[in-house]
Amino acid sequence: MSIASINPADGKTIKTFEPLTETQLDEKLQRAAETFRRYRHTPLAEREAMMTRAAEILEAEKRDFARLMTTEMGKPILAAVGEAEKCALVCRYYAANARAHLADVLVDTNATKSYVKFQPLGAVLAVMPWNFPFWQVFRFAAPALMGGNVGLLKHASNVPQCALAIEDIFGRAGFPTGAFQTLLVGSGAVERILEDARVVAATLTGSEPAGRSVASIAGKQIKKTVLELGGSDPFIVMPSANFDEAVTTAVKARTINNGQSCIAAKRFIVAAEIYDEFERRFVETMQALRVGDPLDEAVDIGPLATEQILKDVDDQVQTSVAAGARILTGGKRLDRPGNFYEPTVLAGIPIDSPAYREEIFGPVAMLFRVKDIDEAIALANATTFGLGSAAWTNEAAEQERFINELEAGSVFINGMVASDPRLPFGGVKNSGYGRELSEFGIREFVNIKTVWVK
Ligand code: NAP
Repeated sequence: MSIASINPADGKTIKTFEPLTETQLDEKLQRAAETFRRYRHTPLAEREAMMTRAAEILEAEKRDFARLMTTEMGKPILAAVGEAEKCALVCRYYAANARAHLADVLVDTNATKSYVKFQPLGAVLAVMPWNFPFWQVFRFAAPALMGGNVGLLKHASNVPQCALAIEDIFGRAGFPTGAFQTLLVGSGAVERILEDARVVAATLTGSEPAGRSVASIAGKQIKKTVLELGGSDPFIVMPSANFDEAVTTAVKARTINNGQSCIAAKRFIVAAEIYDEFERRFVETMQALRVGDPLDEAVDIGPLATEQILKDVDDQVQTSVAAGARILTGGKRLDRPGNFYEPTVLAGIPIDSPAYREEIFGPVAMLFRVKDIDEAIALANATTFGLGSAAWTNEAAEQERFINELEAGSVFINGMVASDPRLPFGGVKNSGYGRELSEFGIREFVNIKTVWVK
């Protein structure tokens, strides 16, 4: 894929970029390694001040950054403003808390003194996706830089301007040039970068194939990785749930970011007693969504990020329908320029169809009717993914069962799955491993060193 900004709302190319030459790439890796030797000794107070300054820049210029995101990947503009604000929040969170997360932990043993010390590792490669083009990067970069590491960003090839803007934010915040660098390279260059001894670890947020590739290359080099991969989150609604709130949240949870979120609810599993009414109200609410120009503040759903994503989504829908699924609404692209897809609802989904087995990365919801909680849990877990999960019920015993039995990195009861800097974020099964955010996230890329003094 070439490195280019193409506006998904009209298909026009805004700007193209030449990938780094081997010499340019080598210079950047060298700068990262040299910067790390100095940067790791910067006092925490200095890092706190720079990270706070990064938050201030994000807050002051959030509308500009939002416009950049929306024109490169199509998210509704108000959501893009919210994304810039959330990035500021994660910067402030780690500026305020990294000191406590990384403080020595004393442990009583037979030594005179024994404790755990957290030290930075070095240059960490971050391979990132376009769907939350600022947030995904900041949730890696804020803890990594506060921990004393340096970052190398290989962003998705369709959001180069966001990638450069983020590098610029850290530069203006006062971080040394080599502390955070954007590498404008295609995915083909990742192997060579990972094999370079100056890169010590990697994190990837993206699809399962990309995760498998990065994990195996890094594995051969014995380098630590964190993987945040895809998901097909269940959203379970039981008879005792607050019905109106469940319907409204369900639609929001499926269509957030034009349906392109790893933790979007994708499979709606509804108890038979309330299924018919849920289906009627859900379809009605999906049909009422406004699809259009993502720069228009009144629009709910913009275009899919690329023409290829639109084709993939449509293929998955058509193949599922050919296998027997029923379209309750939507099911085709909009007849206008840009990558617009109708909000779509499928029911009667056969077990061997893409809608049942795969992640659909667009505004397509799958509805399932279940007879009881056992069937709900079994269906929710009948996936290779295990990222987030949501269950709606006001019965305490049911809540306990969902908390204990759903195979996922998170379970939200009577709410929508969302990331929060204060809580760990990540998956199990093919959704990846490792955690981001909170103290768990900052401790992924540190040497947890045992110190024992007689
Ligand atoms: P993708 O194709 O995997 O791309 C993500 C990043 O990986 C891009 O920078 C891409 O570079 C790079 N990449 C692709 N193939 C690679 C390979 N073989 N080796 C090394 N790097 C490679 O994913 P996407 O389609 O853009 O993003 C959507 C996916 O990300 C969905 O599955 C979604 O669920 C997942 N996601 C997960 C989370 C989470 O936190 N768990 C968050 C957001 C998204 P190029 O652009 O140059 O190809």
